[in-house]
Amino acid sequence: MGKVLIIGAGGVGTVVAHKVAQNHDVFTEIMLASRTKSKCDRIADDVKRRYGVEIKTAQVNADNVQELVTLFKAFQPKLVINVALPYQDLTIMDACLEAGCNYLDTANYEPKDEAHFEYSWQWAYQDRFREAGLCAILGCGFDPGCTSVFTAYAAKHHFDEIQYLDIVDCNAGDHHKAFATNFNPEINIREITQKGRYYEDGRWVETGSLEIHKPLTYPEIGPKESYLLYHEELESLVKNFPTIRRARFWMTFGQEYLTHLRVIQNIGMARIDEIDYNGQKIVPIQFLKAVLPAPEELGENYTGYTSIGCRIRGIKDGKEHTYYIYNNCSHQEAYRETGTQGVSYTTGVPAMTGAYMFMTGQWSGAGVFNVEQFDPDPFLKKMGESGLPWHEIHDGDLEL
Ligand code: NDP
Repeated sequence: MGKVLIIGAGGVGTVVAHKVAQNHDVFTEIMLASRTKSKCDRIADDVKRRYGVEIKTAQVNADNVQELVTLFKAFQPKLVINVALPYQDLTIMDACLEAGCNYLDTANYEPKDEAHFEYSWQWAYQDRFREAGLCAILGCGFDPGCTSVFTAYAAKHHFDEIQYLDIVDCNAGDHHKAFATNFNPEINIREITQKGRYYEDGRWVETGSLEIHKPLTYPEIGPKESYLLYHEELESLVKNFPTIRRARFWMTFGQEYLTHLRVIQNIGMARIDEIDYNGQKIVPIQFLKAVLPAPEELGENYTGYTSIGCRIRGIKDGKEHTYYIYNNCSHQEAYRETGTQGVSYTTGVPAMTGAYMFMTGQWSGAGVFNVEQFDPDPFLKKMGESGLPWHEIHDGDLEL
């Protein structure tokens, strides 16, 4: 139990604020800080109105370690939940070390000037967190996060050896906009337009962007064209479960979305380098973000479901076994509860759940951890009770 500080007041930050407030017995004092304080105040007002829980708010530039340290020392949180952008991971980790706070995030570090993400930058903090007796929990959203915990749960209860892992992420929702991204547009477009990559027989295989695709059938949704992408949890899962022979990640996209994406790329609006515009330096993808709908504003008319899970093949008691564990989340129910859509909801609920695990001592340790390194059982129990129930299919057709 203790104080928690949330950084980032976007779609995910909104859900985390609601969920933390719903567990006020464990998160005894709550602060929400972000670049734009008025956004924090709006969320805090909504939370106060719904649950009667007080959230303090603050303005902070999370690119600036000293600003963060000053804020952390003044509020003295036990845990900092980073739901700003992946660009801020390292500055927030640095500030946590300096101010003596524990750390949790939902996306691994990515430099602003290179569309490239990997865990090495954050794993490099291992000794510093261990020596300081502090805990850093990496990638505690849905994917990475829940999908990593699903894999750990499968390894603990249903397999002696996981051999094939396919993470499948379907958004069958409709926000009724011509084009919008479900989380930060800049991060989302950078992720999707990079080359595909998967792990097989001890090495990484690179593919063209969205080159490999096939229809996969999602529970209560039906078949959806699914595209192979590189996703960050693959890197830590093949390290932590070395019996895995092949690990892949699939995400669904509609034709309309892909057409918009192709045009955005072709006309140069996905560029991440600075250009000169009327004597002013601008980064095209940042300008694009400014004119696209904000993820936290998509909720009102969003219908349909997300369906995210792990399809696993391996050996149990000498026999081949298949296993599918997944969650389906309704955009409308997410909106009714928190005022945001399902993608923010499915990220924010696991972030709160991981924070709850840490605050209650059910997940602990000094150092830097990926979530699959902790006990999956209490996490999945709490997550199920917190709005994201999960389901299992044994020995079904994985289609993969
Ligand atoms: P948004 O863009 O909606 O929100 C990001 C927030 O961070 C904004 O409030 C923004 O401030 C704030 N911010 C940005 N830069 C700074 C800064 N320098 N200092 C302080 N605050 C800053 O993003 P989302 O809520 O959609 O996503 C949040 C995080 O969640 C991202 O890292 C994303 O990658 C991750 N994510 C993880 C998923 C998972 O399943 N693991 C899935 C979806 C998202 P301002 O409002 O002023 O712009």
